[in-house]
Amino acid sequence: MALKLPFLCPDRYCTMQGRGAGEKRRSFMGVYESLVNIVGAERVSRGQEEIYFYSRDSGAQPPGKADYVVLPKSTQEVQEIVMLANRERVPITPMGGGFTLSSLAVPKKGGIVLDMKGMNRILEVNETSRYAVIEAGVTQAALRSYLKRNYPDLQHSTPEAPPAVTVVGNVLIQGHGHISPRYGVNSEMINGMEVVLPTGEICKIGACSVGPSWFTRGPLPELAGLFVGWYGTTGVVTKLGIRLYPRPKYRDVFVFSTDYVDLIPEAIAGVTRLDLVEDFFLISQEKPDWMNRVFFVLILSGHFEEEFALKRDLYKRFFRDFAGGGKVEFVEDLHPALRKRFLDVPPLAALAADFRKGGGFEYTGAIFPIEKVPEAWRKGIEIAHRYGMLCSYVHQVLPGPSIMFGFNYSFNRADKKDIENTRRALKESNKLTYDLGGIVWKGELGAQKMAMERMDSNTLRLITRVKGLLDPNGIMNPGNWDPGDIS
Ligand SMILES: Cc1cc2nc3c(=O)[nH]c(=O)nc-3n(C[C@H](O)[C@H](O)[C@H](O)COP(=O)(O)OP(=O)(O)OC[C@H]3O[C@@H](n4cnc5c(N)ncnc54)[C@H](O)[C@@H]3O)c2cc1C
Repeated sequence: MALKLPFLCPDRYCTMQGRGAGEKRRSFMGVYESLVNIVGAERVSRGQEEIYFYSRDSGAQPPGKADYVVLPKSTQEVQEIVMLANRERVPITPMGGGFTLSSLAVPKKGGIVLDMKGMNRILEVNETSRYAVIEAGVTQAALRSYLKRNYPDLQHSTPEAPPAVTVVGNVLIQGHGHISPRYGVNSEMINGMEVVLPTGEICKIGACSVGPSWFTRGPLPELAGLFVGWYGTTGVVTKLGIRLYPRPKYRDVFVFSTDYVDLIPEAIAGVTRLDLVEDFFLISQEKPDWMNRVFFVLILSGHFEEEFALKRDLYKRFFRDFAGGGKVEFVEDLHPALRKRFLDVPPLAALAADFRKGGGFEYTGAIFPIEKVPEAWRKGIEIAHRYGMLCSYVHQVLPGPSIMFGFNYSFNRADKKDIENTRRALKESNKLTYDLGGIVWKGELGAQKMAMERMDSNTLRLITRVKGLLDPNGIMNPGNWDPGDIS
């Protein structure tokens, strides 16, 4: 009978299972039919159009191969899908917006892409304790506009990413948003989670595990860490409690510029010592010529006019006196279009990212200690030039202070040579990141391998053991954080 299975079932994966709870009759059923049984035919696909799109992203990594795309609507459906996959050893790749650019939601070993965007309900907003409880498919744009409409005094930390990315996908990769310099990296804003473990148990994390409220993550054993930074290899997050923050009444952008790259660490240290910015990033671009400098972009905000004016005056004074004076200039005549671009949330980086208009963009997101910035700055320009590209930088200062230093590469998706050049440039900037003592954020497989090769061997063993414990059959987003032949 086993030999005949492939002929009985057109599916790559074929399963024998009951048709429903309590039903005795058993029949051979392909994974596809089983998925249809769980979510209904309109939310499963193995059609070539869907398979094509779900097998790649807009970064420079090679495509993968999805076998099925499924859009669950509830935690129970996720649980049933995971149990099916676990029983039949079918890989599952959870996906939010699929916009990491580093292929983290692209299936490397086939199987099911679990598109969470069907779970898109905002379940609760607590105005007093300032948090929201959302399902895993809620997008940045949906949460932002919901808050704006119903709770105009509240906001969440919004990344510069396209609005269709999910809040959950972002916190799970330790992303950062427009108020991260003030309040921390977005994964630190998690108040609680509901997770379906790879073996099918539904697990709660944080205050919601002991009571009805999602107001805090601790004090309890810190279990959120089992799912944050693991790229979907340890479970499927179905709900998230996320902190909200007061939305200030006054907000403006102040830009200072310099030609002295070596002044950057001292400037960042000084600005963050004052501890009054909402957002703080550095930009530079080789063309047009006027942009070929270091620009410090400070977003300041306040709930009262006096508070806001004080912050503005303090920073002007800080840069006037900085490094003996005269080396950093205040940009008086910021173009209104640029002012709007900086103040928008998200600030339209998606348009800037595709500056070659070829539809492709990927970056090494290097998290550096700030003293490494000048060296990274110069070497990043060399890497870009080696591959015939102009250098374009956007770096966000994070608490610590540390910095998310973006080695950005925009490319033409229709040009194989361009893609190959981008992959090489990424490899070089990933290596540079580790050589300078940094860490690659949301790295593609090559960057993950570099991290694991350098990692303390007991730490690597611990990662492998945790993964093995949670996902004994290795079904969750296989390929990621896989030590493979690294000993
Ligand atoms: C132009 C541009 C600018 C960007 N700027 C920023 C920025 O400023 N800040 C920032 O942080 N990021 C930025 N990004 C990167 C990225 O788009 C965002 O971090 C985005 O929020 C990731 O969310 P996503 O929904 O696309 O995640 P996905 O790519 O769908 O998922 C990310 C990872 O989490 C896993 N995953 C997703 N959902 C679940 C789940 N429910 N359960 C378990 N695992 C899951 C996936 O398998 C994958 O490994 C930018 C991207 C672009 C294109």
